[in-house]
Formats: sequence, C-alpha cells, structure tokens
Amino acid sequence: MKKTVAFSKNATNVFFHILTRCNLKCRHCYINKKQHGKNMLPIKTINAWLEVFAAKNKQANVIFLGGEPTLHPDLPEAVNKAKSLGYSSITIDTNGYLFHDILSKVSPDVIDYFSFSLDGATSKTNDMIRGKGSFDACIQGIKKAVLKGFSTSLIYTVSTMNIHELDNIAPLLKDLKIDRFFIQVIGIRGKSAESRQDKLQVSRNDWLKIVPDAAQKIARLGIVVTYPKVFLSLEEPFECAGLVADNYFIFPNGRVYRCPLCEDYPLHSLVFKDNLLAKTPRINENDLFTLNIPEGCVMNKLFQPENLSYAANERPKYKIACCMLKEEFRMTL
Ligand code: SF4
Ligand code: SF4
Repeated sequence: MKKTVAFSKNATNVFFHILTRCNLKCRHCYINKKQHGKNMLPIKTINAWLEVFAAKNKQANVIFLGGEPTLHPDLPEAVNKAKSLGYSSITIDTNGYLFHDILSKVSPDVIDYFSFSLDGATSKTNDMIRGKGSFDACIQGIKKAVLKGFSTSLIYTVSTMNIHELDNIAPLLKDLKIDRFFIQVIGIRGKSAESRQDKLQVSRNDWLKIVPDAAQKIARLGIVVTYPKVFLSLEEPFECAGLVADNYFIFPNGRVYRCPLCEDYPLHSLVFKDNLLAKTPRINENDLFTLNIPEGCVMNKLFQPENLSYAANERPKYKIACCMLKEEFRMTL
C-alpha cells in the first residue's frame, strides 16, 4: 500500500548533530564545517539541549547524527539521557563503522533503530561516493547490529552517481534483514554545492521512472520503504514543513534550523545561548517560509533551482514539494 506521509504536526523531531567530525569523506557530504563548527559537544551540553525539547513536547523523537555520531565517546550516555527524558523514539544514524564499541554499550530496548547509510548496491558504486572500504564496513556493521537484536534501517541517497543501482539493492536488503529503507534525494549543500558542476541532482523523468517502482519492489519483500515526493503537479497542494511541523536541525556550534535546505547559510531561526533556545534576528528562514511562489518550495528555488523547469509562458511546469514530504510503501496482508 502506498500513502503520502503528512508532516507530523503533533510530534517534535530533533535531528541532533552532536559533532561534525567523520572518518569518511563522502563526495556528497552535506556537513559544512564553516557553518556548523568543528567542535564535539560536551555531554553536559547534549543533555541540557535534550532537556529543552523533552520539556516542549511529550512526543519527541531524537535522531543522533554527525559527522559520525559513534565517534563521540559519550553517545551511550546521551542515548540513556534521551530515554530517561521520555523521548518516544531514539535513532542513531551511522556510516557503519560503529566506533567505541557502541553496540555493546546501548541496548535494543532503548534504541529504536540503527540507521545505516549506503549509496550503492555494489562496493564499486558505493565506494566511489563514500570512500574505499566503506561498503564492506557498512555491511559488517549491519550484520553485527542485527545479530545483537537491533532494528535497522538503511538510507540510500539517490543522485546521478547511483540511481542506476537502486533497483538492484532489494536482494541485499533482504539478506541483511533490514526493517526500513529510506530513499533520500541529494541536497545541494555542503560538498555537493561546492561541486555543483557535477550535476548530482536527478532529473524529474529519471526520478519518476525509477524511484517509485524500485520502492514498490522493495516493499514487496516486507520492508517499509519511504522516499521523498520531490515533484508535485501544479494542481497538488503544497505545504512547507517550516510552517506546520516541529522539526529542529541542531549543530554543535549552537545553530538550530527548521529547514535542512538552509544549512549552508546563516539563516537559522534559532540558536542555543546558555543552553536555552533563543530566536535569531531577522532576516532568517522563518521569513522565507511564508513566501508563496508558483514553484512550491522557496528554498529549493533559492539554493538548488536546477531541478525546476518552465513552460514558454514562464510558468513552472511543476512544483517542488517540501523535502520532508514523503511517500511510504508497505506491504499489506
Ligand atoms: S558519513 Fe555522513 S558525515 Fe561522514 S562524510 Fe559521509 S555524509 Fe559526511
Ligand atoms: S524544504 Fe522548502 S518547503 Fe520544506 S521546510 Fe524548507 S522551505 Fe519549507
């Protein structure tokens, strides 16, 4: 069954980058150290910031991110803190190297998902994007996590470098006993923005021709598959998550964004000061969310407009959806 997943308007989602350091150098890495800092957040600060969001909403979800979050030696303590604060779900995103013996220091009762990143069905394609040896390391990491009883998801960031292998990844997902599969669309920020000439964004034709079918095929294996809608017809309604959802993208220098497309710019609407969330001066991302343009997402038009197309009368041929609007496939019995 396919459904469009509306933004969760009742839950608070905390995307918590606890450091920006990473052992890999992926070609499309979205981390921008000039904007996000190079520091590793002390555990006291992590705990204090977790408290802020737990107090805001009884239904809060946290995703620990980096860089590579398992490089943070105090990640297990942060996880336990989130649990004790009553977070509804706790996820760790990882490139699979699983540093500091993390699997032995956290429990499947506390972690909802270890979410692994792989960008190809073969080591050739994945390692060309993510670095030599990263395919095998990720596969080994998934196997170890499954063996220890953790639920796992896999994130595949689709670009022109790897869309040709999306359809081939189904058997691997099944063999690895992956529970959920997330297809992501490449964002033109961080390194992808620096190498804009490489044209990593997938065309609308290729996206629509390949992604929904591949998602359906994988869902038939009993895996829940989620992918961004990306393209809307001119008739379909457009909604900006920045106005209706409660998402926070937190970086170790204290910046807090509501929209991930803004992360290459000092447009964050919030900032941590003395461990309290403060509003930033205008103009910030909040002022842009309210702009109503025929192309749909305003940040897309500002920062990565190469995916837009116009008719002879200069009207857009379609709209770009909010990057957080998802389609979900799951098998029904
Ligand atoms: S694993 Fe993530 S943080 Fe590390 S280089 Fe790759 S994309 Fe960047
Ligand atoms: S991606 Fe676009 S639509 Fe979504 S929150 Fe950002 S500005 Fe709004």
